[in-house]
Amino acid sequence: MKNKIRVTKTFLPPQDEYQSILSRAWDKNWITNRGVLVEELENSLKTFLEVSNLIATTNGTLPLQIAIKALNLTGEIITTPFSYVATTSSIVWQGCTPVFVDIDPEYFTIDETKIEAAITKNTSAILATHVYGNPCNVLEIERIAKKHQLKVIYDAAHSFGVRYKGKSIFNFGDVSTCSFHATKIFHTGEGGAIFCKNKYYDDMFNYHNFGHNGEEEFHGLGINAKMSEPQAAMGLAMLPYLQLIFKEREVLTNLYNSKLKNSRIELLKIREGTDWNHSYYPVIFKTESQLLKVRLELEKRNIYPRRYFFPSLNKLPYLTYKSCPVSEKISALVLCLPLYPGLEESEANIITDIINANV
Ligand SMILES: *Cc1c(COP(=O)(O)O)cnc(C)c1O
Repeated sequence: MKNKIRVTKTFLPPQDEYQSILSRAWDKNWITNRGVLVEELENSLKTFLEVSNLIATTNGTLPLQIAIKALNLTGEIITTPFSYVATTSSIVWQGCTPVFVDIDPEYFTIDETKIEAAITKNTSAILATHVYGNPCNVLEIERIAKKHQLKVIYDAAHSFGVRYKGKSIFNFGDVSTCSFHATKIFHTGEGGAIFCKNKYYDDMFNYHNFGHNGEEEFHGLGINAKMSEPQAAMGLAMLPYLQLIFKEREVLTNLYNSKLKNSRIELLKIREGTDWNHSYYPVIFKTESQLLKVRLELEKRNIYPRRYFFPSLNKLPYLTYKSCPVSEKISALVLCLPLYPGLEESEANIITDIINANV
């Protein structure tokens, strides 16, 4: 390959379309603090995603921190070790203790059958990730949370557009968060969103805007997580291309599936009842040395998959180690293949040929 092929490639809308949307911020001489573009993006996304509460934010990490703060969580938070580091670091940053529950060996989401054993009198919530856009067992988690009076937050950073049992996945839990980072399916460069039940909306909104109540009064403590107008303009410019983005990812996923179906690697199993968004294409090797060999061969061809997610988060150096054998095993064996609109069929074929020749 002449050009580097990475695990993803940021989708950029035509620059003139971005600029023509952005010119509306120029017309008003207003580039942040809830301008017209942020409000328009929030409304468009609410319609597109079929959610009733959405707050656009400056990234996908602050929403996790705000959710932990706004739900008054203290003590222990049960969480998954198989996610991006932001899931765990947000818990620690807010002064709470992450308690890892191992993952399901097929879906890679938190193993709901092991949650109850991890609950103590100090547990305040469950914070789980719909990893790769694959939903957690949300109904069982809801049952457990009700029984033990725990709050539920979903890190849904990978789940833009995912539906479960006919509903947006963002409608599950007390709060869900999403990332609109440039590496994610839908992006605003940096960006994100909070989704929540009606009763939490006002609190979440105030927290994301310094706790302001008008210009001179305050509801309480807050932080700055506001999305700016240039970010919102990028989001609005992406909207006309969403169907194309989802379609191209599905086509590439099907291509990979057909080329790898007889291979000695394991593929992601999507939970029944899910309309998936094809956000990642993870493959699970039999051994780590196989993974490293395939990665080396791909790198020789200028192709750079990523070890999403490695290491398993229970091994973070700032935490006391607790064993999570399934997550540690999957983390060591998983490689995410390049997947983005514009990846050529011939390029995907080279990737699968290299895998098939080396496993
Ligand atoms: C990307 C990501 C985040 C963080 O989002 P940012 O927008 O980069 O702050 C959080 N959790 C998961 C699972 C992610 O993949």
